[in-house]
This record gives sequence, C-alpha cells and structure tokens, in this order.
Amino acid sequence: MTEVELVHGVEISVKHPRDELLRADRLPHIWCPGCGLGIVTKCLVEAIRRSDVPLDRHVVVSGIGCTSRLPGYLNLDTYHTTHGRAIPFATGLKIANPDLEVTVVAGDGDLFNIGGNHLIHAIRRNVDLNVFCVNNFNYGMTGGQFGATTPIGARTATTPYGNFEAPFNLPYIVAAAGAPFVARWTTLHVRQLLRVMRRAFQIQGLAFVEIISPCPPTFGELNNFEDGYAMMEYFRNYSRVDDHAELSTIGLSMKPPDPVVVGNFVDTRKPTYHELERELIERARN
Ligand code: SF4
Repeated sequence: MTEVELVHGVEISVKHPRDELLRADRLPHIWCPGCGLGIVTKCLVEAIRRSDVPLDRHVVVSGIGCTSRLPGYLNLDTYHTTHGRAIPFATGLKIANPDLEVTVVAGDGDLFNIGGNHLIHAIRRNVDLNVFCVNNFNYGMTGGQFGATTPIGARTATTPYGNFEAPFNLPYIVAAAGAPFVARWTTLHVRQLLRVMRRAFQIQGLAFVEIISPCPPTFGELNNFEDGYAMMEYFRNYSRVDDHAELSTIGLSMKPPDPVVVGNFVDTRKPTYHELERELIERARN
C-alpha cells in the first residue's frame, strides 16, 4: 500500500500515523454509530504511543462486552478474557512479570457487576494496574439490560418503567477501597482523557479512570438522548471539573441539568503489592 493516493487530484495519506498500533485486518469494528468507544480507542492508542514504556511491554486486557472488544483492535499483546475476569488475568500477568505495563479496559458491567469482587480486591492489594472503565450505564452488547451503574429512574430493556435500584458511584467506591489514583472524564474530554491515561501509566499502584461514554441505541434511545451527539451535548453543557469534589456527592443521574462532575480526584502514593512482596522476600532471605 502506498503512503499517499491521489483522490480527485488531491494527495490523501492512506496511512494514519497510529496505524502501526491497530490491527487493520480486524476492522471495521463492531461498534454502533455514535458510540464513544472509538474515542476511547484513539486516546488509548495515543497514550501508549506517547508513553515512555516500550510497546513490547504494554499489555491490554479485557473481559467481555462492547468495551472489551477494544484490545482486539490493538496491535499489541492483548488478552480478551472471560466475563468479569479481566482483573485476575491482569493481576497474574503483572505478578509474573512486573516489568509489564498492564492496562485493563472494560465496561461497567464487566468490572462492577460480574467482576466487582475482583476489582475491589485488586485495589485492596494495590496491584500496579491501569483500570479504564468505560461506563455506558447498561449492558449494551446484549441488548441494553440494566446494571450496577444504571441511574435511578433510567429506562433500559429490563427496567421499562424506570430503574429503582440505587446505582454505584464508581469513583466513590474505588476511592473508599483505597485506590491511590481515581479520576473520571467523559468521551467529550479527549485531551484530559489522553493526559489521564498517560498519568495512569506513571502511577505506582492501581490507577482507576471512569470514562463516561454514549451508548445511543440502547441507553441513549430510552433516556431522551436521541443520538450520540445529544449525549455529547449533555457532557458539554453539564460537565463540571472539580478535582476536589466530595466523592460521596458525585453519583450520576444522567438527566439534565444534573451535573457530570469530572476530574482527577485522588492522586496519592502507597506501597504496591509488588513492592511489599519484594520487601518480604528480601527480609526472608536475610
Ligand atoms: S451497544 Fe452501546 S456500547 Fe455497544 S457498541 Fe453500541 S453504542 Fe457502543
């Protein structure tokens, strides 16, 4: 394939600068028009490219669901594992080879419903992982069932009269479990998302980023967002950046004019699982 082609007399590059990081043979992707996962992919690819870590040390792990298809499009070492089990796979990789930069990218259902227990224990242990959770408030891939992040009153395929179960507030849970880095952004905040992913690679310990993302054909359609653009407009009009927000108050209703509070909420340093393990081995040797 040539690098440049003439289209209507204009030279067009047929190679994207980040093509080397994508498995072009897997494209086109499966995602719906207006889905936020393309933006997440773009940010992740860019963050990996710009990181100080060599490409052959990056590993991306996912579970099952729309978000979990993402690693399959990356031309890196990637693992598409079983539902809710991305964290145990990633933990095993990191413990077996601490030199790897291990990133988990998965949806809210995968990480907080089916895999919730794995996540809180990885946080408790402070395993050195980057966990990027794409929250679209429902199980998109299987037809839009409600889950642990579906806001009160939101309609889904399985809550046609509105959800009455209290949803999880993800940054609050993760911070309470002890994660040393906690952030939330939306797919509208492309620059912040890129920056926070790069920051996550530098964090020693578990770095958690919630990424609020549109899911137009299921959650969006049933909740007055007629397309992906309508949800991006909601993010634009009602996002409020507050790094010092009181995390117990930043649960999401996804109803204008309620705000979507975003920011880098927690950034601390505490001993990682790997550091404590090394220390123990040293002590045992001496
Ligand atoms: S169902 Fe939702 S999350 Fe899944 S690809 Fe479509 S828009 Fe994206």
